[in-house]
Amino acid sequence: SIKVRGLDMFYGDHQVLRGVDLSVAPGTVTCLIGPSGSGKSTLLRCLNRLVDGRSGDILLDGRSIYQEKPDTVRRRVGMVFQHFNLFPDRTALDNLTLALRKVRGLSTAEAKRVAEARLAEVGLLERKDFRPANLSGGQQQRVAIARALAMEPEVMLFDEVTSALDPELVKGVLNLMADLGRRGMTMVVVTHEMAFARKVADQVVFMDEGRVIEAGSPGAIFDDPQSARLKRFLAEVL
Ligand code: ATP
Ligand code: MG
Repeated sequence: SIKVRGLDMFYGDHQVLRGVDLSVAPGTVTCLIGPSGSGKSTLLRCLNRLVDGRSGDILLDGRSIYQEKPDTVRRRVGMVFQHFNLFPDRTALDNLTLALRKVRGLSTAEAKRVAEARLAEVGLLERKDFRPANLSGGQQQRVAIARALAMEPEVMLFDEVTSALDPELVKGVLNLMADLGRRGMTMVVVTHEMAFARKVADQVVFMDEGRVIEAGSPGAIFDDPQSARLKRFLAEVL
């Protein structure tokens, strides 16, 4: 489980998160929605210690992530970004085996076995020897997801992973994520895909100006919004 308690985060003097509270139960999917600049990406980055809050706490299975090394947290909490961050001069397979050998310390043979199994899961085994430039955006994003999963994280974070994709490629990636959720992966997903949030999320969290304004089931958030800000946001995006 994840519990965020009273998290404040600043970039310099600029306060970006203001007393954020958030609970994520194991095996559930939480979708973060909100206007541009509301702090969604920053909150995700706090969850795997790419950046640190100034006050408040984040508990992963009851223990503060600030008591662990950032590298350990990043291994337990995987993240996939809008831009794929694959090594451009390496094949899909090598993108996974490099991480498996370096981060998980697997032997070459074992890394290859795990990498092929993960690529098969995302439907890309037959493309394993392709470099990113020779894969579609959707395929690159699925490689990036396979690489994150190969680290066997306890939690997966997704930051607008379909925003840079051509429309016809979005569905394959969303289906893969929905599948992961069904199989019990704990996920926090920043997305503009409201249909995905409604269908897949157990919890939807609406942020504005660094605060969590409302959190609840998709039905509560989309069909029965309470705050004027959420009503206005939904009127713009739906
Ligand atoms: P979007 O939907 O556009 O991705 P977001 O909700 O993810 O927005 P954040 O990226 O978390 O928003 O940004 C929150 C605030 O922090 C914004 O005001 C932004 O300008 C600021 N910010 C983000 N990254 C940095 C940075 N590296 N240095 C300084 N300020 C930053
Ligand atoms: Mg963002």
